[in-house]
Amino acid sequence: MTIKKLTVAGGGVLGSQIAYQAAYKGYPVTIYDIDQAALTAVKTRINALRPSYQTDLQASDADFDAALSRLTYVSDLAEAVKHADLIIEAIPENLDLKTKFYQQISELAPATAIFSSNSSSLLPSQLAPATDRPARLLNMHFANHIWVNNTAEIMGSSQTDPKVYQEVVTFAKSIGMIPIQLKKEHSSYILNSLLTPLMASGMSLWVNGIADPQTIDKTWMIATGAAMGPFGILDMIGARTLTAVPLPAAIDPDGKITASLKQRLADGKLGVESGEGFYHY
Ligand code: NAD
Repeated sequence: MTIKKLTVAGGGVLGSQIAYQAAYKGYPVTIYDIDQAALTAVKTRINALRPSYQTDLQASDADFDAALSRLTYVSDLAEAVKHADLIIEAIPENLDLKTKFYQQISELAPATAIFSSNSSSLLPSQLAPATDRPARLLNMHFANHIWVNNTAEIMGSSQTDPKVYQEVVTFAKSIGMIPIQLKKEHSSYILNSLLTPLMASGMSLWVNGIADPQTIDKTWMIATGAAMGPFGILDMIGARTLTAVPLPAAIDPDGKITASLKQRLADGKLGVESGEGFYHY
């Protein structure tokens, strides 16, 4: 099967980027979100991508608008998935919510449709039991700002059909991603296995009063040549996403880092998304 029709479920931070990037590469994309108010927010998020595509990819207004015209916004799940070859799920990081979603789409989507999760912390083997098709489910995990940070980590469970895996690899390339093929399931993939300890170490240095965020970032950036330090990355990901996934006890033994991130969420200092995090935007 060749993937031609795509549905992206959940048009939040990542879902809106995935949907727009696929449309930019020529796919007709249906975006599903829970109601009209959520879909209005999705449209706002997608329209806000225009300057980035113009600056980073030299897209013209016409290019940007052509991709917009390939997007369809739907709040009825049956309608959203009924013709899909591939459903990319980017709904909130909550196992109960995702389980219910996969149970529903198992009944509503064509039997041939492939299910792909963007989950940051749940393994495909945790999602597969909620579906009628474990062989056609895997994770494809995008990085924030996918039009430039274009890795797609592809991870199947032991039940994923290798042909389905390869179809998704081909699809990832076709939307401008570099497919990163994991040979087996691993919590946190490759990127987050590297990033989480870096961000946690930065937070630990800060909450324990060793240095301020700017000094910590400056050290990392100058000494390694990286474009961003741990706090710049924390702001880009955002406090909402960061607090949705518990940090392993080995990384946050006294809970100080988690408490600090939760306080920032309560204070509305979400990062780039709210205009203020460790930096102002
Ligand atoms: P988000 O909170 O920004 O967006 C979630 C979207 O899902 C919202 O538009 C919300 O209205 C919608 N939604 C809520 N309940 C729903 C339901 N039952 N059905 C369909 N849609 C529903 O979340 P996000 O940051 O985009 O994360 C989504 C997924 O992507 C998560 O699994 C997360 O782990 C993963 N992810 C996030 C990032 C990131 O940097 N934000 C990076 C990689 C992966």
